[in-house]
Parts: sequence; C-alpha cells; structure tokens
Amino acid sequence: MELIRCTCCSEKSYTECCQPFHLQIAVPPSPEHLMRSRYSAYALHLIDYLWETAHPAKRYLFSKADIEQWAKANYWFRLEIIYAKGDIVEFKAFYQNKLKEYVHHEKSIFKKDGDKWYYFSGEHF
Ligand SMILES: [Zn+2]
Repeated sequence: MELIRCTCCSEKSYTECCQPFHLQIAVPPSPEHLMRSRYSAYALHLIDYLWETAHPAKRYLFSKADIEQWAKANYWFRLEIIYAKGDIVEFKAFYQNKLKEYVHHEKSIFKKDGDKWYYFSGEHF
C-alpha cells in the first residue's frame, strides 16, 4: 500500500497521524494534535469533524455551510506550528486562493471537556 503523507505536514503517513482522529478511532491527546487534525480536516473537507471539534459553547459562531465554503474555496498546502504549550497553539496555515498565496496566522485556545480537547477561540495576527 502506498503511504499517503498527512496534509498537516507532520511528515508522518496519514494513517499514523490524523486519520484515526478523523475516523473517531482515537481522540487527539493534545491541543497540537487537535490543531493538526483540524488543519488536515480543512484540506480534506471534513466539515463535520471541524464542527464537532469546535467547543459546544462556541459552535453558534460557525455554521457548517461557512466552514465548508472556507475549506473548499482554498487550497491548503502547508501548516507551521510556531508554539504549542498548555492549552495554546500558535500556527501559520498557508493556503492558496485563486492563484494567490495567503497565510492565516493565529493563536488558538483549546479547552478540555471530559477527555476531549476542543477548539475554543483564536486571536488573529
Ligand atoms: Zn496529520
């Protein structure tokens, strides 16, 4: 079987990286794992996963249609984790939209609820 590199840029194969989270076989053990799996979910257009990993108290801010529009409008080609500690992950998500390249630079806060981490909020730069 050919190994497919994970789109979160971990250098690991998809099956050993974000796929178990996407298939809900495993729960991301840290905010960084969750952040990576959310980035690859954008790249792979896994809209339900993005919705479900947003904190329940914050879901009113998003709609599945908006997430889908944003995910599909762009080509997600690189993720760079700048800082990850405690409940904070700072990252740069590189994407292309209509042949132009952009960087989404964000410091995200994650919250744990039971045994699961959720995306809570983000500060954009
Ligand atoms: Zn991954």
